[in-house]
Amino acid sequence: MISQRLSSVRERIANAAERAGRNSEDVELVIVTKFHPVELVAELVDLGERNFGENKDQEASAKSDALSLLRSDVEVNWHFVGQLQSNKVKSVLRYASTIHSLDRDSLLAELKKQLEKTDQTVGCFIELNLTDDPGRGGLEPSNLGLFAEKVLAVPQINLLGVMAVAGLGVDPRVDFEKAVLASEKLRSISPESRYLSMGMSEDFELAVELGATHVRVGSAITGPRG
Ligand SMILES: *Cc1c(COP(=O)(O)O)cnc(C)c1O
Repeated sequence: MISQRLSSVRERIANAAERAGRNSEDVELVIVTKFHPVELVAELVDLGERNFGENKDQEASAKSDALSLLRSDVEVNWHFVGQLQSNKVKSVLRYASTIHSLDRDSLLAELKKQLEKTDQTVGCFIELNLTDDPGRGGLEPSNLGLFAEKVLAVPQINLLGVMAVAGLGVDPRVDFEKAVLASEKLRSISPESRYLSMGMSEDFELAVELGATHVRVGSAITGPRG
């Protein structure tokens, strides 16, 4: 049952935080609901959850609209966690409070342009590419300082920190440690940008032990995506 899978993940987060001498309240659970129907999100809302992640604009946009009809009395936070094409930015800004995948100049320029038409702000993580494959998206870590300065120059973006996905077939610890170093570097430029989005179903406990403040957990809670 979903309520049991949810409590089990929450317990594992709490235990991992305790092992690291951290407060589990400093770890935000973002439940990735991609490929699952809005009814499942509503069920999680009824269980007290308020942070949800999606990785495709079309699906996220429809689901967030549907949820506001189903649960019009609650405010939820939608996190956009997937690769983001510039032509989707306008739509994503309609529902997302946080974007985890800011990774390039062209996307930053489009965000700035769309935000300037509104009075809204959006929280962003700079996504790092820790693999050798440029096709995976994410910023090359050595460009972090320069890119962060450009992001910080956009007043309607709240730069939260860095985000990373551990590479396939490699020890996630190696990648997470690179992300932690990048996070420290970013904090030396912008002390408020202290958040770290890393960890998924297979590796969120390790991520919490290493300092993740946002874990993006899907299937361990929602069940398989089919
Ligand atoms: C799908 C996805 C997740 C969640 O993956 P699970 O393995 O199901 O926990 C986390 N982050 C991103 C960027 C994703 O695309």
